[in-house]
Amino acid sequence: MSVLVVATGNPGKLQEMQSYLQDLPWELRLKPPELDIEETGTTFLENAALKASQVAKALNEWAIADDSGLAVDALHGAPGLYSARYGTTDQERIERLLTELGDNPNRQATFICAVTIAKPDGSIAAQVQGECPGEIITTLQGSGGFGYDPIFYVPEYQQTFAEMSAAVKHIASHRGRAFAQLQPYLNALFN
Ligand code: IMP
Repeated sequence: MSVLVVATGNPGKLQEMQSYLQDLPWELRLKPPELDIEETGTTFLENAALKASQVAKALNEWAIADDSGLAVDALHGAPGLYSARYGTTDQERIERLLTELGDNPNRQATFICAVTIAKPDGSIAAQVQGECPGEIITTLQGSGGFGYDPIFYVPEYQQTFAEMSAAVKHIASHRGRAFAQLQPYLNALFN
């Protein structure tokens, strides 16, 4: 059975990524915590590639990484690439975002997720990007998920990410849309 290393240290993302990969015929391994890759890219795709490639090379195994974030229209795409670094806790990040947006009537935002699979030599085997449009609401709704989920409302589903069941978020989210695009590559690579 081939080994695939999941290159993330974020427990919320890890759980979701594992759910997309669980039916595949390989053994999933977690990235060792001491292997920390600096996100120096200027796009989600660049950062996902950097993480997958460097982890694959360091361990000489196949690796998969995602880079994701929330781009808010009225904040010119912020927090974007800096979504994880926007505060030290989820609560701080949410409060900062709501403060910066204030009572701006433009609440449009997009969750973006780039996913890269790298070969053991660090070369890129597959790369995709999924997006989920939504709106930033003013009060937190729902208790599921992680990160900015309680303030991200998806009109198509009439729910925030935090109100969705894991099964619905699995399909509706930026990560779900990216993994749907990745499926043909996964089938071709490992079957
Ligand atoms: P990174 O991909 O490790 O740089 O982190 C992306 C950051 O974006 C996370 O730490 C979360 O704050 C946020 N994020 C990414 N995906 C989601 C999601 O599905 N729900 C809520 N927040 C998310």
